[in-house]
Amino acid sequence: QLSIRLMKVAAHVQADAVVADIGSDHAYLPCHLLHNGGAVRAVAGEIVKGPYESAKKQVQAEGLEDKITVRLAPGLEAIEPSDGITAVTIAGMGGSLIASILEEGKDRLKGVERLILQPNVHAQAIRLWAVENGWQTVAEEILKEKDKIYEILVLEPSEEKVELDAKQLLFGPELLKQQNDVFKEKWQREAAQWKAIAERLENTTQTEDIRTKKEQLLEKIALMEEV
Ligand code: SAM
Repeated sequence: QLSIRLMKVAAHVQADAVVADIGSDHAYLPCHLLHNGGAVRAVAGEIVKGPYESAKKQVQAEGLEDKITVRLAPGLEAIEPSDGITAVTIAGMGGSLIASILEEGKDRLKGVERLILQPNVHAQAIRLWAVENGWQTVAEEILKEKDKIYEILVLEPSEEKVELDAKQLLFGPELLKQQNDVFKEKWQREAAQWKAIAERLENTTQTEDIRTKKEQLLEKIALMEEV
């Protein structure tokens, strides 16, 4: 049984998509998609040998070798132009790593109609990348599973640059509109941590770096309190 987190990611993949799942580990997500009519073909990319072998085994065990190609490659290098990829999923990593994978491989995103990204932390890094690279948010979700809180960002190419303000970058333009209970819980947890860090910084020798860090934290706390 797939985790709720990956089920929710899968639900954003278009049924007629050719999907590349980057950092696929056991390839659970593409296997689920192919078994349930959630996509027509898939590539599962992995940078580490162990998970790559697990993905190959899983795809074989599920009899999906003709529909899922497993490749050992860093980031979007797992995608080849002839694959005709229309959707990319990247789940279960930090937002900064996801943003750097997108930045390093952006020439491989030609023809891709949708990115479905599930950062465990720091979704802001992805939103910043999206603004700079002509992708707009079409949906966002926040969910809690086994006491962990996850965000899902769904992006599509935009004709014109869609700017996001500081609040939208940090909290997410769609999540900010919804402000559901999980959203509130996430930011209450975060704010408690920021306040504890800011207090500790207060009692540390005030170098330029420390002052900048403290200012950034206070700015985030102020944004949070406004929201
Ligand atoms: N996507 C799965 C999920 O959400 O359950 C697996 C997440 S697992 C925590 C992260 C996986 O990404 C690991 O298997 C790791 O080897 C892989 N990974 C990390 N950096 C990568 C990169 N630059 N390119 C491809 N895979 C990467």
